[in-house]
Amino acid sequence: MIINLNIIRSIISATALCFCLFNSGVTLAQQNFDDVEIKVLHVQGNIYMLVGEGGNITLQAGEQGVLIVDTMFAPLSDKIFAAIRSVSDKPITYIINTHGHGDHIGGNANLAQMGSNIAGGNTIDLFAAGAGNQAKVVAHENVMASILAQENPIPIEGWPTDTYYTSKKDLFFNGEAIMITHQPNAHTDGDSLIFFRRSDVISTGDIFRTTAYPFIDVANGGSLQGVLDGLNYILDLAVPADRQENGTMIIPGHGRLTDEADVLDYRDMLTIIRDRIAYRIDQGDSLSQVKATEPTFDYDDRFGLNSGTFTTEKFIEVIYNELSIRN
Ligand SMILES: [Zn+2]
Repeated sequence: MIINLNIIRSIISATALCFCLFNSGVTLAQQNFDDVEIKVLHVQGNIYMLVGEGGNITLQAGEQGVLIVDTMFAPLSDKIFAAIRSVSDKPITYIINTHGHGDHIGGNANLAQMGSNIAGGNTIDLFAAGAGNQAKVVAHENVMASILAQENPIPIEGWPTDTYYTSKKDLFFNGEAIMITHQPNAHTDGDSLIFFRRSDVISTGDIFRTTAYPFIDVANGGSLQGVLDGLNYILDLAVPADRQENGTMIIPGHGRLTDEADVLDYRDMLTIIRDRIAYRIDQGDSLSQVKATEPTFDYDDRFGLNSGTFTTEKFIEVIYNELSIRN
C-alpha cells in the first residue's frame, strides 16, 4: 500500500510540478508578516505552544529531536525556526499536519528542509530522494489530496512523506507515546488529532478554536457531526485535575491554551445551536426563517464573525443544510 501510494504520489507530484512552473508568474495573495512575533509558551512536560499568525504550532522537544505540529505560513519560517531554537538545538525530525489548510501547512517545505530524519524516505519515491536530510511530514492521506486540489499548492518539499489511511497512527518519540487519530469529516476530511500521552497534551487542529465558531469546510468534506464527534473524543481523552481545571492541556487550532472545561463549554454551545436549528427545521422553517430566529444570538459576542470566509451566517447555513439532508 505504501509503495503504491508513493508511486501515485510521484506521478502526481510531477504533474503538479509542471503546474507550478507554468504558473510561476502568478503571485499569491501577499500578506505582510513583518510585524508578526512568534511567542513560545511552555505547556507542560515536553510540550510547548508557538503562537503567531495562522494555526498554532505544538512543539515537542527532547533528546531525539524536535517534533512540530503544523507550520503556519511560509514567510514566518525563519522566525519559527528561531523560536524552536530558543527551546532546543536538536534537528526537526517530524512535522505532523492536522489538516491541509494553508495557514497550517504553509511553512512545511521550509521547516522540513531545516530538519533531518535518520530514516529517510522510500527509495522508489523519486521526489523523496534524499529525504534523510529533511524532516518527515506526517498527515492523513486526505491532506495530500487537498494539497493537490489547491490552485497554488505548497512546494513539493513540504508534501507529506508519511501518510496514513487508517483510523490512527502511533509514534514513539523523545520517550513519549504520540497517538495520531483521524477525525473523519470534521473541520475537513483529513483532520488529525494529536495526543502526547506522557506530557498529557492534546493538539486539536481546527476541530476546536477558542476564537470563533468552528469552520466547517464542507467543500473539503467537513461536517458539524464530525466536529462534534471530534470534540467528544477530546473530552474522552482529557482528564481534568482538581476542580475541573488543568490536568490534560489542550492546544486549539487557533486561540489560547485551554483545558477540558473549555472544550466542554464549546461542545455544549455547538450542541445547543444544533438543537435550536433542528427544532426550527422540524417546525418547517426555511433557512431565512431560521436565520431570523437568531439561533446563535447569545454566543455571537464571543464566537461570531461578520467578515471573512466563514461568517456566522455561513455557519448557520451549513448546519441548516446538514440537518435538512438528514431529515
Ligand atoms: Zn483549517
